[in-house]
Amino acid sequence: MNLPLPITSAFVSGSASASALSVELPKLCPCGGAPAAIKRKGAEATFADCCGRYIEQGQLPPDALHLMRSRYTAFVLENEAYLLHTWEKTNRPGKLEFDVGAKWLGLDIKDFVPTGLQEGQETAEVEFVARVRVAGKATRLHERSRFVCQDGQWLYVSAVNV
Ligand SMILES: [Zn+2]
Repeated sequence: MNLPLPITSAFVSGSASASALSVELPKLCPCGGAPAAIKRKGAEATFADCCGRYIEQGQLPPDALHLMRSRYTAFVLENEAYLLHTWEKTNRPGKLEFDVGAKWLGLDIKDFVPTGLQEGQETAEVEFVARVRVAGKATRLHERSRFVCQDGQWLYVSAVNV
């Protein structure tokens, strides 16, 4: 069994596909995040209050950090449509395949920095570690990702070498 590649490209050329419908929507958000207001009360974030707003309800993430969290959650939910929709189109793969049996264990955001205007568009970078278990082996996926805001919508561009 090969170890997973970085999260953003791991499943582009996977050997097996899975049905997106096989994953139930969770009560608590897989990304572990919470809006500040909820965090202050000490409660855990529900999916509906966290990434569900973007994945299920069509709201636009306000920044690259929220988009990154929602894309992690979309990987957990095997939501190909959302992942492709939030991929900058010149870098977007034609389709995604998910690693059967992968169990996502959590997301840690290490860094989030706005990187200024490039060709008139806002950009940002997010560095994260995602933990996943495949075939009984736990693995850390460490990546720094670039994002761009086009027409008010943040999009994933590509991984940056770290
Ligand atoms: Zn979330």
